[in-house]
Amino acid sequence: MYNTNKYCRLIIVIPCYNEETVLPLIAPQFLKKLYCLIENGKISNESGILFIDDGSKDKTWLIVKELCLKDIHYNGVSLSRNRGHQNALMAGLMEAKDSCDITVSIDCDGQDDLDAIDRMIEKYKDGYEIVYGVRSKRDKDTWFKRTTAEAFYHFMNFMGVESIYNHADFRLVSSRVLNEFEKFHEVNIYLRGMIPMVGFPSTSVYYERKERLAGESHYPFSKMLSLAFDGITSLSIKPIHVITSVGFAITILSVLAVLWAVFCRFTGKTVSGWTSLICVICFFGGAILTSLGIIGEYVGKAYMEAKARPRYIISERTYSRHNINYSEREDVENE
Ligand code: UDP
Ligand code: MG
Repeated sequence: MYNTNKYCRLIIVIPCYNEETVLPLIAPQFLKKLYCLIENGKISNESGILFIDDGSKDKTWLIVKELCLKDIHYNGVSLSRNRGHQNALMAGLMEAKDSCDITVSIDCDGQDDLDAIDRMIEKYKDGYEIVYGVRSKRDKDTWFKRTTAEAFYHFMNFMGVESIYNHADFRLVSSRVLNEFEKFHEVNIYLRGMIPMVGFPSTSVYYERKERLAGESHYPFSKMLSLAFDGITSLSIKPIHVITSVGFAITILSVLAVLWAVFCRFTGKTVSGWTSLICVICFFGGAILTSLGIIGEYVGKAYMEAKARPRYIISERTYSRHNINYSEREDVENE
């Protein structure tokens, strides 16, 4: 299982949404890293960087295009509207996969350690097809972000979603894995839970997470909650099992309660019972509504999957369709 192609082609895939403040600072750092890897003979000269503009409302796409004019190793693709981090990343990976041997996906905010890429490539050369970047510490995150993020991973695992603890979307994935991953046609995507499903040898490298270089996080608490909810409902049916078990337990309790009520009725110990009645009605009302809501969520997901709308639409590329060429700039035709 040795990956013998010593000079592999790497594409660094970077989703960007409203990152005009951070992009001019971080782009040269990515390029420096790329040149360093090329000079050290770790990757081929045909490697490059691919920015995905996720329908930004600021100057992000203009900055990407300017960067592309400055260096051959930059390329960019723009989505027709904002589709969210996961879809933007998916767009980048699918665009990159036929023009490289390996991809490394990384956020655009400078929080992930670029030096970990060297170690990821070494692991790839040792035969691993997927290398997860795992945060060894999160002390640069705020207490709230750290605590909620950790609770998020534990909860996801409890709910049956196999995910790597403290790994976000900083990872190396080979084009071989991506070609198999392409066959996963679902519309609701949660990449950190789906990539492990593809299989192939995988490992982790550890790094310290830094602070954002500039700008603000796009994942406030509410968005993180919805990511967790989407992740669970797209990848696991454990909540339905939990509902079934709870429903079963409540049914047994109800039978006991009915027996008790009948017993009281015949022994003449009937009390007004208004409070308990209201409590029971409220409890069951709540339980039924919650259960219906969760089941509805799955029905909704099935509805979206049945429609099979495209996950993203590409409006512009800085390279010709289906082939990202990092050795010479081509004329581009865009849709
Ligand atoms: N991002 C994106 N589309 C969105 C939101 C975010 O492409 O709708 C990108 C963003 O530009 C960044 C990455 O996803 O490169 C992670 O976002 P962020 O740093 O805000 O998340 P955090 O690290 O705080 O969880
Ligand atoms: Mg970030």
